[in-house]
Parts: sequence; structure tokens; C-alpha cells
Amino acid sequence: MIEKLSKATLKLGVIAGGQLGKMLIQEASKWGISTYVLDPDNSCPARDVSSVYIQGDYTDFDAVYEFGKQVDILTYEIENINIEALRQLKSEGIKIEPDPDVLALIQDKGYQKTFYEDKDIPTSAFSFYENTEQIHEAIDSGALQYPFVQKVRKGGYDGQGVALIHSVESSLLEGDSIVESLVDIDKEIAVTIARNADGDSRCFPAVEMRFNPQSNLVEDLFCPADISKDMTKKAESIAVQIIEGLDMIGLLAIEFFIDKAGNILVNEIAPRPHNSGHHTIESVVTSQLEQQLRAIFNLPLGSTKLKMPTVMLNLLGDPDAEGEVYYDGFEKALEIEGVKIHIYGKKIVRPHRKMGHITVLADSIEEALSKAKKAKSSIKVIACHKK
Ligand code: ADP
Repeated sequence: MIEKLSKATLKLGVIAGGQLGKMLIQEASKWGISTYVLDPDNSCPARDVSSVYIQGDYTDFDAVYEFGKQVDILTYEIENINIEALRQLKSEGIKIEPDPDVLALIQDKGYQKTFYEDKDIPTSAFSFYENTEQIHEAIDSGALQYPFVQKVRKGGYDGQGVALIHSVESSLLEGDSIVESLVDIDKEIAVTIARNADGDSRCFPAVEMRFNPQSNLVEDLFCPADISKDMTKKAESIAVQIIEGLDMIGLLAIEFFIDKAGNILVNEIAPRPHNSGHHTIESVVTSQLEQQLRAIFNLPLGSTKLKMPTVMLNLLGDPDAEGEVYYDGFEKALEIEGVKIHIYGKKIVRPHRKMGHITVLADSIEEALSKAKKAKSSIKVIACHKK
């Protein structure tokens, strides 16, 4: 691997070409790596920045298998990938990081929960149900009480596949699911950790996330999180426990709840670059993307020192935006000191679709937040025909 990297002949395959794939590929190109990307959408964000774009469905065995055969090392920016194809490639000697077994565990929220329980990692209480009838029976027998949170075991993302069930009137989700007790959330934070094959690991500074109650998407995110040193230490030691427990190589984002009683609980994990790490591109000495490359190539991990307080806001499609995208107010947002705009290159806007983000660096979180809000109100993500 290092030999090929040194000769600038290394071929990196990235499964899925969304914004995270695009950013990872841009980072890899700085090291002269040839990048291959697999995505079904031929106008995906990573297409134009990759060396080779291959159109294909990452849930399809043949598409993933054929793609993997072309590269020296395979990684991914999405979880919903055909695991059998990854396992077959691994058995034929293709390097895949993080390992397909880790991905298989993370693809299923039920397995995730069982893993936390087995390793004594704090998480909210949970139980498994195969269908809505079983949930109704548990409610009728008094074994389950309102309110609770129901999550589909597989395939949920960005708050889809999560339902807060308050009463008999709330609609239950179909299929295999987990039911969790409702956490009285004070804060949601995330810690990203990277680990290389030598077993060295390093955490990024904790970020605090605030969610939009309607869309369930991150409304704003700031770093450093407003938590005590003691809480930071707890979160970091849980992060180490998880990545070592999984014996994982690569980048792992861990989302936590801190409840009103001050308990820290793991919500979920993602074995890839993460939305909560976008800010690291500008605000941390080593970005999450560079760290991912260092980790999967077994290179020394980079410094995760925060350069300045930072805020990240997603640029989402307006609630009524549908059609070819138009970024209204781009120039106005750039007038604000410390504002960095990232546009992912998606051609079509839809309501609440993640189209880009803004990162702001400032001397304090308060200043960064106020500048970020100003920038966000300057730039509207609308459809061309609404212009
Ligand atoms: P996704 O995988 O779609 O991101 P999450 O499991 O992160 O779904 O849940 C989305 C959001 O729903 C969380 O960020 C949190 O605000 C809320 N939520 C999830 N689980 C619970 C819980 N047990 N108690 C309270 N709120 C929860």
C-alpha cells in the first residue's frame, strides 16, 4: 500500500459519491491517489472530482464486486452496501477498511444495541419487535408504556426510520424494529475517532448538535461542545472502548445523548466520515477526511487540535423547493468574515435536501453562531423557476 502511495499509483475505491465521497476524494487527490467511485446517480457530487466514475447500485452484489476488483483498497461513505459482495472481495484479498464485519454490525441498529450491552457501553434501554402486532400486544399487556422511540433496524437515515410514539394515535413503523426508552435529552454531542492498523487511535474534539424538530436534521453544530472536561473525557473513553471493541480501522463517528440527569448514552455510530465532522476541513489541523486516509493506509494519525471555535450549518433545500437548484444570496453570505461555503453540486433541490454547508470560524462560539445565522439567512436554496 505504502509502496503504491509513494509511487503515486495507488487506486482507492469509494463506495457512494455523495458529498462525503466527494470530500474524501478531493482529499485523496492531494496525495496523488487515483480515485474510483461507485454510485447509481450519474450526476452525483463525487463524479466530477473522481478519476473514474462507475455507475452502479451499491446494494447489488455484482456492481460492488466488479467495482472492488478494480482497486487496491476499498472504503465507503454510506452504510447501505451489499455485505456479501464486500465479504467475497475480502476473501479474494481486496483490502476493505473499515472491515465488512464492522459494517454488517452497524447496518443493523439491533446488533449495535446488543454490542453496547455486551461491552457495557451506556445506551438507552431497548427491546426488539418483529412487527407492529407484537408492539401492540406489549402495550396491551403493560410490558411497554408510552412514550417510547421506535427505530427500524435497517435502512433508516437522517431521522427517517425513527418515530416518537406518544400515544395510541402515533403511527408505528412497519417491520423489524427496536423500541427504546425516550431519553430526556439535555444535549446531543458527537465524537469522531480514528484508528489505524497499528492500534493507535485519536479523537476529534466533541461537537454539539442542535436538531430541527420538524425535519430531524441537524440545525446547527458547534465545536468545542459546551460540556465539562469530565464529560469530554467520558465521551472520549467510550469512543476508544467502541473502536477497540469493534477492532475497527478507519473513522468512526459516535453520536451521544447527555440526559438531564447528566448521564452520557451512546445513540448510534457511523463507520465513515460524518456530517458532524464537516467543520474539521477548516477548523482542525487534520480534517476528518485526511484522518480517514491516514487510518486506512496505516499512516501516523494527524493532530486533531482545534484551530478556532467553529459553527457548521447545513444548507438545506427550502421547504417548498423542487427542481433545478438556485443558490440565492451567495455573494451576500461571503461578505461575512470567516464564512466558508461548501456546495455539493447536486443539480436538483428538494425540500430539506442537504445541498451544502457553511462553516464559520470566529474567536468565540457566540460570534461564530451569530455570523453563521446571518450567512444562512443571506443564502436561500431554492428552485430556479422560483427565482
Ligand atoms: P438516524 O439514524 O436517522 O440519524 P437517530 O437514531 O440518530 O436516527 O435519531 C434521530 C433523532 O431522534 C436523534 O438525533 C434524537 O434527536 C431523536 N432520538 C433518537 N432516539 C431517541 C431516544 N431514545 N430518546 C429521545 N430522542 C431520541
